[in-house]
Parts: sequence; structure tokens; C-alpha cells
Amino acid sequence: MPARILDGTALASQVREQVRAQVMELAAAGRPPRLAAMVVGSPPAAMLYANSQRTECERLGIGYELHQLRADARPADLIELIDRLNADPSVTGMMLLMPLPEGFDPHAMQYRIDPYKDVEGVNPANLGMCFYGQPIIAPCAALAAVEMIRISGVEIRGAEAVVVGQGPIVGRPITQFLLQQLATVTGCHIATRDLAAHTRRADILIVAVGRANLISAEHVKPGAVVIDVGVNRLRVPDRNGKRAAITVGDVDFEAVREVAGAITPVPGGVGPVTVAMLLRNTVEAARKQMVRAAGGP
Ligand code: NAP
Repeated sequence: MPARILDGTALASQVREQVRAQVMELAAAGRPPRLAAMVVGSPPAAMLYANSQRTECERLGIGYELHQLRADARPADLIELIDRLNADPSVTGMMLLMPLPEGFDPHAMQYRIDPYKDVEGVNPANLGMCFYGQPIIAPCAALAAVEMIRISGVEIRGAEAVVVGQGPIVGRPITQFLLQQLATVTGCHIATRDLAAHTRRADILIVAVGRANLISAEHVKPGAVVIDVGVNRLRVPDRNGKRAAITVGDVDFEAVREVAGAITPVPGGVGPVTVAMLLRNTVEAARKQMVRAAGGP
């Protein structure tokens, strides 16, 4: 029997409705969430992202502002902007749109964002606290992957979990979250000798690499839950013989769905939930700042 498809679009809608209710509560408590995005120049993908973010936020009642520095801005200008937004109490969430121009160190800039306002959860303070299971704000794609496992219904405690790809923002935090929930976790990476020997043991297989078709049916244990975080753009011939761009994950979806018990599609799986987690993090950041202002942790 083909695998159950884990519908990220439906889950993301549910999360948005929860966020909408939380935004109203925060506004009533005098702490309306406000997200400030920063960009240097006008990189086309970042500008598109900012536009859709503005629409998303405004639909849910979250304030949104885009701070755009000139293309010839210096790192010191961005640092000054980050420091100003860190100090502005009306701004409850901040994020930096990529790419930054040459000469900017993206990590150093992200590290400068107040961890309580870091809605992407990428500040080292937040990533570090993932090891204690207590991030102020956790990274969005890792949260999304764990949410997808939750809706699959599989019991994490005691399960064999394999995480392919150990990047610092996605694979490694997922590995930590699963360990904390008492799965037995194997982390596979570029130097893993026999990938299939590991992945075939997995009750829960998470793939976060960025390589189309890395995982085929032979890599998957029958009945496993397969979470595909990868996003790859491929150019393939369309019906008219022209080349069209399509988005695929790291998993050969059609082949693996015949073996797995549940699987996330790409697009429509982890991606929309990651966007919803950013919105959830935005209200979570505002709430935690309110608790802190009242003398809490
Ligand atoms: P990353 O930091 O580059 O991490 C990728 C990891 O995969 C690295 O540890 C890399 O090792 C490893 N790797 C490369 N080839 C491998 C192989 N053949 N077998 C096993 N591991 C291999 O990237 P990331 O930020 O974690 O993102 C991973 C993927 O998730 C990308 O496709 C990205 O677009 C996608 N993503 C999706 C969402 C979403 O919402 N769906 C959000 C964020 C990211 P080395 O560093 O040693 O090469």
C-alpha cells in the first residue's frame, strides 16, 4: 500500500489559525508582535520573499517592516541597524534576508541579533540552548520536521531515527530534538560509508542535504516515516520539449512512497510548515519578551 502523504499545507493552515489567535491575545496584552526584516540592496529572491512575508504577517495581524540598506552599504551600517532594532521595544522579531553582498559575514550579523528577537532561531545562543532542550527560539525547519513526525503518529521514544545531512541549522538541531525525545539517533553525513545500511534501519528517516534523488526505495525500511527537508530546483523538459524548472526534495518521492508508511511531499511538505514556524516563532518571541519584561526567565 502506498505511503500516507503528510500534508504540510494543511498543517501550516492550522498553525496559522493558532498564530492568529495568539496575535490577538498579545495585542490585547499591549505587546503586538512586529517583525522587522533587513536586506542589503535588492536581491530578487529576498525581495520576493519579503513581499510574501509582508502579506502573510499582515493577514495574521503581525506588523511588518522591511529595512532596506543601499547596495553599497558597509557591514558597519548593518551592525548599526541591527543594534537600533535590538534596542527598539516596538520591534519584537528580527530577521536578516539573504544573500548579503561580498564582504559581509552572514553568521556574524545573525549572531548580533538579540536571541529573544531572533525569529529564525539561528543565533548561536538559540542553537546552543537546543542542546539543553530550552532554546528561546528554535530554528524553523528543524521545528517543522519534528511537527511532521508528530502528525505521522509514530512513537519517537525508542524509535530508530536516522538524520541524513548534519548542517548546523537543520540536520543537527533535528538530531538533538529527536535525542531529547529518546529516539536512538544516527547522524549520516558526507563521510558516511554505506548510507543505505544506516537508512534501512530507520523507523524515522529525515533527509536534509540538498541533493535530488539521494534517497531511493532501496534506502528505506518498509513502513518507515520519511521526512524530506531538501529543496532542489531542477530543469526538466516539459510537454513542449522546453526546459521547465521544478522543485523536488532529496527523496525519490514516487519510488519511496511505495515502500514508506508515511512521507512528506516536496513541494507541500516541510516547506509550508517551516514558513508557519517562522510566524509561530514571531508570536513566541513577543510572548517571551513580555514574560522577561515582567521579571520572568
Ligand atoms: P547545509 O548546511 O549545506 O547542510 C547539508 C548537509 O548535508 C551538510 O552537512 C553536508 O555535508 C551534508 N551532505 C552533503 N552531501 C551529502 C551526502 N551525499 N550524504 C550525506 N550528507 C551529505 O544545508 P542546510 O541548510 O542544512 O539545508 C539542507 C537542505 O534543506 C537544503 O536542500 C535546503 O534547501 C533545505 N532546506 C529546506 C527548508 C524547508 O523549509 N523545507 C528549510 C531550510 C533548508 P558537508 O557540509 O560536509 O558537505
